[in-house]
Amino acid sequence: VLRFTKIAEIQHFLRDTGTGQTIGFVPTMGALHAGHMSLIAMSRADCDLTVCSIFVNPKQFNDKNDLNRYPRTPEADAKMLEKAGCDILFTPSEGEIYPDSSETTFYFHGVDSILEGASRPGHFSGVALVVARLFEIVRPDKAYFGSKDYQQVVIVRMLVKQLSIPVDIIAAPIIREKDGLAMSSRNALLSRDERDAAALIPAVIQKARERARTSGIAAARKLVEQAFKGHPILRLDYYEVRDAETLAPLSSLDGKPAVSLLAVYCGKIRLIDNLSL
Ligand code: AMP
Repeated sequence: VLRFTKIAEIQHFLRDTGTGQTIGFVPTMGALHAGHMSLIAMSRADCDLTVCSIFVNPKQFNDKNDLNRYPRTPEADAKMLEKAGCDILFTPSEGEIYPDSSETTFYFHGVDSILEGASRPGHFSGVALVVARLFEIVRPDKAYFGSKDYQQVVIVRMLVKQLSIPVDIIAAPIIREKDGLAMSSRNALLSRDERDAAALIPAVIQKARERARTSGIAAARKLVEQAFKGHPILRLDYYEVRDAETLAPLSSLDGKPAVSLLAVYCGKIRLIDNLSL
């Protein structure tokens, strides 16, 4: 894997060596796991050159503690990417990504202030800023995002449409641990007890899906609230069933594709998951 930290250098390489080759791009914040590797594998299957970026983007953290404790494992990440056959690793500094204090404002018609955006104000502005910047630098043909961050995929699709960025956005399935917990860099921050307790999250979202299908959305929400009520380690932030494309609220399940999304505090660590209905 070839490593770049400077924009000018990766651009020079991609515009020279990369001419005529299709570029697949996997943006990440590092502490890589099998979920990230599934994106790398998809890119390698589709594209001539695969670029992975690792940048812990301060602008998408509304919680300083969350940013400070976010896991960083640069050596292990580089090894994993090498083994996975990733061609290029881009690890820019903050000054490289944000050279001045100017900030573009995007409008996502409220989609950025519901669900994750309601719990994490400013999060999606930060995501949009860094994704737009990285797309400008890498100019990928295809970019790969995990459905684990479902709302992020919706926002990124809106972003590329608004800015007419010529990139295909590919959403990849959620990769899970044996007990069903969605893989996440933040899982590494859980204590043994928290990690064990977290297995309830995928179990509950599965059960709620069945309940939603048989008894409707309100019954599913009730099931989820009951499942976490009084739990010593887990605390429900939200559970919602939404239009799978727009994330607009749904009053019933007939017709349109729907998705259930939830966020749960596991001790101090906030975890998210989702399941199509
Ligand atoms: P992150 O490093 O957490 O910003 O994630 C980088 C990319 O990997 C995002 O597109 C995530 O949605 C994706 N990703 C993270 N966890 C998983 C997972 N368990 N399965 C699939 N994709 C994932």
